[in-house]
Amino acid sequence: MTKIAFIGLGIMGSRMALNLLKAEVPLIVHNRTKDKANELIEKGAEWASTPKEAIEKADIVFTMLSTPQIVEDVYYSDQGLKAGFKKGTLWVDSSTVNPSFSEKMAEEAASIGVRFLDAPVSGSLVPAEKGELIFLVGGTKADFDEAKPYFDIMGKVSHFLGENGKGSSMKLLINLLLAQSMATFTETLRLGEAMGFPQTQLLETLLNHPVTPPILAGKKSKWINDDYSPEFPLKHMHKDLHLVAETAFELNRAMPLANAAKEVFAQAKQKGLGDLDLSALYKSIE
Ligand code: NAP
Repeated sequence: MTKIAFIGLGIMGSRMALNLLKAEVPLIVHNRTKDKANELIEKGAEWASTPKEAIEKADIVFTMLSTPQIVEDVYYSDQGLKAGFKKGTLWVDSSTVNPSFSEKMAEEAASIGVRFLDAPVSGSLVPAEKGELIFLVGGTKADFDEAKPYFDIMGKVSHFLGENGKGSSMKLLINLLLAQSMATFTETLRLGEAMGFPQTQLLETLLNHPVTPPILAGKKSKWINDDYSPEFPLKHMHKDLHLVAETAFELNRAMPLANAAKEVFAQAKQKGLGDLDLSALYKSIE
C-alpha cells in the first residue's frame, strides 16, 4: 500500500493530513513543532523526528510549508529531504511559492531521480478541514494521475495545468485577485464608516452586492466580532504578493496595482498584524 509522508502541519497541513488519515491512508508525519502532530499521532499517524526519517519509508511526500526559503531549507538541511529521498519518490509541494522556484526544485529533484509536482491549493482553513480544497497542479500528467486519489481526499477539484511551475503560477494569479479584493474592500469599508454608516449596515449591503467578490462574505463574522484568529495569516498574503512582484520582475511586467496592495499588507505586517487573519487589514487601514 502506498505510504504517504506529510511535512508541515500548520493551519493547512494539519487538516489536510487528518483527512488522509480519516481515509485510512498510511501516513508518516513531521513538523518542526511536534505538538502540532499530537492529534494526528493519537489518531494513528507515525511520527518522524526529521524530514529525512519521514520520507525514507514513503512513496509520495507532501510538503506544506510557509515560504520558498523554508521549502529550500527543509530540502537541503542535514536531516532534510535531499538526504532521505529514494529514487522514484514523488514529491508534491503544496506550499505557495513562486513558479520559477517550483521549476528550480523540479530540476533539483530530477537530478536525484525524484519526481516533482507543484500542487498549491486554493481554499483556506474550512475547506482544508472539509476536504474541499482546489489543487492547482504543474508537472507530468502521469505524476498528476498518481497523486490524484490523494488530491481527491483532501480536495473537491484538482486542475492539471501543464508543466512544472504552472500550478504555482495559477495560485499566484488567484491570490493576487484575493489580495486586491481584500485591500479594496477594506478601504471602502473604512470610507463608508467615515461617511457615517454603521459597520453592520455596510457589511450587510456591500457583501450582498454583485460588485463584491463572494469570498469576502466568509470574513463577515471576523469584522463583526473583531476576532481575527488566523485562517489565512496576513503575513502569508504579504509573502504571496512579494512572490507576484518577483515573478513580474522575471517576466518584465509592470504591476503597479499589485505592488500598491503589497505595501498595504506590508504596513499591516509592520504594525504587528502578520499572524492574524488577512481580514485584520481592517485594523491597519484606519
Ligand atoms: P502556517 O500555519 O504558518 O504553517 C506553516 C508551516 O511551515 C508549519 O508547519 C511550520 O512549522 C512550517 N515552518 C515555518 N517555518 C519553518 C522553518 N524555519 N523550518 C521548518 N518548518 C517551518 O501556514 P499555513 O496557513 O498552513 O500555510 C502553509 C502554506 O500554504 C503557505 O505557503 C501558505 O501561503 C499556503 N496557503 C495557506 C492558506 C490558508 O488559508 N492558510 C491557503 C492556501 C495556501 P511550525 O508548526 O513548527 O511553525
